[in-house]
Amino acid sequence: MTRDTAGAALDAVEAVLPPQRPVALHEPTLRGKEWEYVKECLDSGWVSTVGSFVTRFEQELAAYCGVRHAIAAVNGTAALHVAMMVAGVRAGDEVIVPALTFVGTVNAISYCGAIPHFSDVDRETLGLDPKGLARYLDKVTIRQGDVTINRETGRIVRALVMMHTFGHPGHTSALADICKARSIVFVEDAAEAIGSRRDGCHVGASGLVSCLSFNGNKIVTTGGGGAVLTNDADLARRARHLTTTARVPAGWEFDHDEVGYNYRLPNINAAMGCAQLEALPALLAAKRRLAEQYQAAFDTLAGVQFISEPPDTESNYWLCALLFDDPAQRDRFLEISNAKGIQTRPPWRPMHHLPMYAECPRMPLNLTEDLVRRIANIPSSPFLAPS
Ligand SMILES: *Cc1c(COP(=O)(O)O)cnc(C)c1O
Repeated sequence: MTRDTAGAALDAVEAVLPPQRPVALHEPTLRGKEWEYVKECLDSGWVSTVGSFVTRFEQELAAYCGVRHAIAAVNGTAALHVAMMVAGVRAGDEVIVPALTFVGTVNAISYCGAIPHFSDVDRETLGLDPKGLARYLDKVTIRQGDVTINRETGRIVRALVMMHTFGHPGHTSALADICKARSIVFVEDAAEAIGSRRDGCHVGASGLVSCLSFNGNKIVTTGGGGAVLTNDADLARRARHLTTTARVPAGWEFDHDEVGYNYRLPNINAAMGCAQLEALPALLAAKRRLAEQYQAAFDTLAGVQFISEPPDTESNYWLCALLFDDPAQRDRFLEISNAKGIQTRPPWRPMHHLPMYAECPRMPLNLTEDLVRRIANIPSSPFLAPS
């Protein structure tokens, strides 16, 4: 009898991984100046939302990502919420978003009182499929003055949020063109994609506004944290205002001119972030090495493939992933790998399967439905692969 694909896939993963068990899906790597910088905060008393590390972190992030402005926030979801607000998303608007994403992308739309409109992804990027989306929008929307309206619901399609799945850069320019032709605001959820590039440009710089996450499972972590990125100075000012309870300078008095949010990243977290950014090139190189070893281990296997970076892109390989031909083999692989202490998992439940989003407008989501049954994420921490 021939070995099943699940068993062969587990052997291939084990051939790459070091022998210690358990192995987590993605662990933080804290081998740089994290202790030193955090201690500096504790020693100086600058532990909260004012302090030199926050400003330094923002400047270094902007420079690294090739954008003019970065505004640090308490987490990626808060950053996305602010991005939606400054993008002009209002109650009753619709926002195009992939059905294959983390729930935070979609929740940020809901926080504005807007309605997510789910769109399908393509195999090449695992992100929004521009060709299918353009055809679909031509069918279901109509231009009215300077906005695009959903014919069926009568609502304005205000914005589109693309997401760079597992760190693989999506079709930024094709999606930007789709938005531009329809006066739809283009936003990028680059939460998973720090260090990823398409045609040499860092992701998150094509949209009007974008966001990053520094959650504990991301490549760069501040414990919890996020950032809004934009090239627009007015938008940056407004984002900063909204994250700092809409405070206006008024001598020793507190003054606030609108409903703001307490979303600013504390200095102590930013201190970690500064140390993590110093380590980022080494982290990315280590992750690429791991991806190459997985790729080689899966090259000759039938029934399953390692998902590699899309053409013309450089992925950060945040979460490495396998694509099985047969969903039953994927399920079996998840079972036997986790039983052995190797943490693997399926992608997120697609958004339209969640009870609060089941009734939202959507296009046919055939590839999303197919991929979520066949993908498995495998251990992806930097330095799992020997150098
Ligand atoms: C991690 C992540 C976020 C933000 O998550 P936080 O935990 O709030 O920092 C948003 N979108 C996607 C796609 C993510 O993976």
